[in-house]
Amino acid sequence: MLSGDYHTHTTYSRMNHGKGSVDDNVRAALALGLKEIALTDHGLRHMTYGMTKKAFPRFLADVAAAREKYPDINVYAGLEANFISPNGVIDVDPDVTDKLDVLVCGYHKIVRPKFGGTAFLLRNLVTKNSRKALVKNTDAYLRAIENYEIDILSHPNTSCRIDLKEVGGLAAKYGTYIELNGKRVSMTADDLIMLASLGCKFVMDSDAHSPDRVGDVSYPLEIWKTSGLPMSLIHNWDRLPDFRSGKVKR
Ligand SMILES: [Zn+2]
Ligand SMILES: [Zn+2]
Repeated sequence: MLSGDYHTHTTYSRMNHGKGSVDDNVRAALALGLKEIALTDHGLRHMTYGMTKKAFPRFLADVAAAREKYPDINVYAGLEANFISPNGVIDVDPDVTDKLDVLVCGYHKIVRPKFGGTAFLLRNLVTKNSRKALVKNTDAYLRAIENYEIDILSHPNTSCRIDLKEVGGLAAKYGTYIELNGKRVSMTADDLIMLASLGCKFVMDSDAHSPDRVGDVSYPLEIWKTSGLPMSLIHNWDRLPDFRSGKVKR
């Protein structure tokens, strides 16, 4: 069974995007018998849903309080960072990542770009199926994987086409997990088989935006089953993942 859910949102994702509190999500995870949960609200440059810098210390305090209050589950502070530049820059600086246990990173459309990121973002809105978009996106992913200790790539290939083989190869080398997202899986069974052959490691996360969705990976499970790949490749199934950043304290 699922051992941990490393991608969940709370009310710290603004505009009522996440519905539950940190405490609500942790209680939901406990009720399901999960051993671990990460709270991963949207990165700071997401224009509508992002966590604010001002709220970040409160978020950390809420996570610390939940960790104390619920000793039967490991509770981790994370963020779902955004790609904001073709150079692979993401929207969390070291002063923020230093305080996180788990760093998730994914592509989202409505973010404040940086370092030439406007063309990068527009390309994905306007000409997203172009060869140029694919090349630039892939480059951004590769550079980010090299430059940041990204533990999990959330929903790869969603809203932002990438060369899965290139990205998967580098993710395997660095130990960044490929996520099978609870809401969106933009990879076919053949893609998954190809990624597994490269040595990729996978996790399944709910991407819950309300406490009742915490731990729900029924959708990616169905897709995984069609690939015929063993569950042993899912590193949060019947075991706990070994995160690249090594910041998780168990
Ligand atoms: Zn996302
Ligand atoms: Zn998310």
